[in-house]
Amino acid sequence: METEAHIASVVVDVPARALSEPFDYAVPPGLLGKVRVGVPVAVPLGHRRVVGYVVGTPAHSDYDGDLRPIDGVLGTAVFDEHALQVAGWIASEYVAPLSEALKLFLPPGGAPRVVRGDDGTWRYEGRQTAPASVQLVSRKPQADDFQPRPNAVVQRAVLEALSAGPVTLSELTAGIGGAPAAVRALARSGVLEITESRRYRRPTGSSSEAPRHAHTAQQAAAVEHIAGAVEHGGVVVLDGVTGSGKTEVYLSAIEAVVARGRGAIVLVPEISLTPQTVGRFRSRLGDDVAVIHSRLSVGERFDQWQLALEGRVKVVVGARSALFAPVRDLALVVIDEEHEPSYKQAQSPRYHARDVAERLVRARGAALVLGSATPSMETRHRANDGRYSVVRLTERVGGGAPAPVEVVDMGAEFSSGNRSIFSRRLTTALEQVVERGEKAVLFLNRRGFASFLLCRECGFVPECPSCSVSLTYHEDGGRLQCHHCGHTETVPATCPRCGSAYLRRFGAGTQRAEADLAALLPGVPVVRMDADTTSRKGGHETVLARFEAQKQAILLGTQMIAKGLDFPEVTLVGVLNADTSMHVPDFRASERTFQLLEQVAGRAGRGTRPGRVIIQTYWADHPAVRAVQERDPGLLYGPEEADRRSLGYPPYARIANIGFAGARQTDVRDAASMFAEGLRKAVPEGWSVLGPSPAPITRIKGRWRWHVVVKSPDGSSMPSLLSRLDAEITVPEQVTRTIDVDPAGML
Ligand code: ADP
Ligand code: ZN
Ligand code: ZN
Repeated sequence: METEAHIASVVVDVPARALSEPFDYAVPPGLLGKVRVGVPVAVPLGHRRVVGYVVGTPAHSDYDGDLRPIDGVLGTAVFDEHALQVAGWIASEYVAPLSEALKLFLPPGGAPRVVRGDDGTWRYEGRQTAPASVQLVSRKPQADDFQPRPNAVVQRAVLEALSAGPVTLSELTAGIGGAPAAVRALARSGVLEITESRRYRRPTGSSSEAPRHAHTAQQAAAVEHIAGAVEHGGVVVLDGVTGSGKTEVYLSAIEAVVARGRGAIVLVPEISLTPQTVGRFRSRLGDDVAVIHSRLSVGERFDQWQLALEGRVKVVVGARSALFAPVRDLALVVIDEEHEPSYKQAQSPRYHARDVAERLVRARGAALVLGSATPSMETRHRANDGRYSVVRLTERVGGGAPAPVEVVDMGAEFSSGNRSIFSRRLTTALEQVVERGEKAVLFLNRRGFASFLLCRECGFVPECPSCSVSLTYHEDGGRLQCHHCGHTETVPATCPRCGSAYLRRFGAGTQRAEADLAALLPGVPVVRMDADTTSRKGGHETVLARFEAQKQAILLGTQMIAKGLDFPEVTLVGVLNADTSMHVPDFRASERTFQLLEQVAGRAGRGTRPGRVIIQTYWADHPAVRAVQERDPGLLYGPEEADRRSLGYPPYARIANIGFAGARQTDVRDAASMFAEGLRKAVPEGWSVLGPSPAPITRIKGRWRWHVVVKSPDGSSMPSLLSRLDAEITVPEQVTRTIDVDPAGML
């Protein structure tokens, strides 16, 4: 028999780190039986009264004094034991306060305030605790024979507006020019009825056509494999080339789950949360879907969350944070494009959705599907270890052959006298596209842009002798610096490899490329897609619609064009500068380059006409370029795995990036040095501490940035050590310190 809790451990919802540990409170007699895990309560804290959430009901308290009583219960539980367990894991794994981890599971909205009603009851405000309520006006059936007087224009208009059924009061008054008094008068005389009704704010959106296809044999096998995982638990990697019908597999797997009355969560990268993607899910799953993304208002997000909590929808589709939606009887979580770095949260708690999802499905006895055309090395490693199972979709559903990939050596191009950013081969190909009245996509790689030096004749880029990352170029003192370990050297006068004098800073912007293109192909419309042209709401769709509307055009864009773009009339894809992402000072540079090139290449030849892909680079035999060209991912993964293993990088080791930022460089550097020193004393044998060194992006918004990197063997308890040092080593007030465990990048 369950005994009634007399003590409750409560995490208070106030934004102060020092208060992250739960406090014990006494459960007064009037609340016995109502206090359970997940229940929001009003509790005294110092002289204030705040909202807290019950995280436990211990039999004894370690607190010496008298426990203060809980004032009141504010509602029903908003999270359960499993959510609590996962929140606890997030807090310890990513070195974050438990209250911050728990917040992920709470309804969207700001920190709530406690209010005591006139009748003595407690409630909380601030979070939108209930969906908007509306007043619904309907005509009473018994008053059907009511006839307004001939000159009662407003009455007539009201009755007219209601002839097709109930309407909300605000819509009604807006429709007749605003006269709620007339409506209320009719209600008083018994003709109309006004009732309170709850309305969920649902973002509008189309449900684009998503016909149900007969599955290919590979799709059918994948769906069956996932059904097995739903039955028995586990993580499935869906490794499928672009256009192989992965989304179709997700949809069928989800339909099967929903048919059994169970729930599912689908995560897609924020950038892919286009009306088309959402529409596909809506069209197949109808009203069973809620959508959560950052462009919704807080109210809309709250209601989507509420729909899931109340079991009114069984499926939630959204970006990273949708993972925490309170879907009932969760059976399946799908993470599409699982290799995307955006699944790592940049603010505390700095969790990785993939790892949290694995925890969550194991706690709830559900299955996790990780879909990608280019699975991350972490995921591949776990699959090799047998921790994840793998299903492959190797063929495009259309059966169309992937476009051949041609590589142009820009060093050779430069040596032979062509100094343009367009190689002769790409120029000719563009002219042919124009002649045939077709479309082209040009990709300008600007991922994680950091300045580096490149020899325009041989493609040489200076690298750190001990970290195998490109050295970053600093204009000021003519220095090159490693932003992992701090190594510096002076800029050589000529290329150390070939002796050329053309050792120059690398980079070109979309605007410059647009101007050059206009000169090259006068009269051909160029649609530019980058952060500038898409910043407004719906910016992506507007830009893409412009490209689609043209009979003939060239789409010029940054990595945002790499995803999802499906234009059958595109016959040429050009990559202007594959090199940028190769030389990002980050150990994942090669992997990301491969993912990017593979994605971009997948945009060509999606229609009936054959496609062509041209990659321009100064490093034509880079493993990522070769892997895409030869359609053999092993050409990248082979050498990359060997490198990561020997240098001690994930997935063979664990790293954390500890960042320091502040207005005065000396403060920041000193704080970083102090932490590095403390770390060096504390780490066990076999770990290494790099730095402190300036971060690759040395200043952001006037704040200087330094960092320290720790490497530890795979499976070591790095978070607990960092958490201890975080408490022991204080930072001066003017410096902020952030601990990023399993960082997605080191910029
Ligand atoms: P992916 O997510 O792997 O890129 P999609 O699921 O988006 O692939 O499928 C690509 C296209 O092929 C979509 O237009 C989809 O409707 C269509 N498609 C998917 N499966 C089939 C199938 N079995 N038969 C015909 N068309 C299909
Ligand atoms: Zn050179
Ligand atoms: Zn280095």
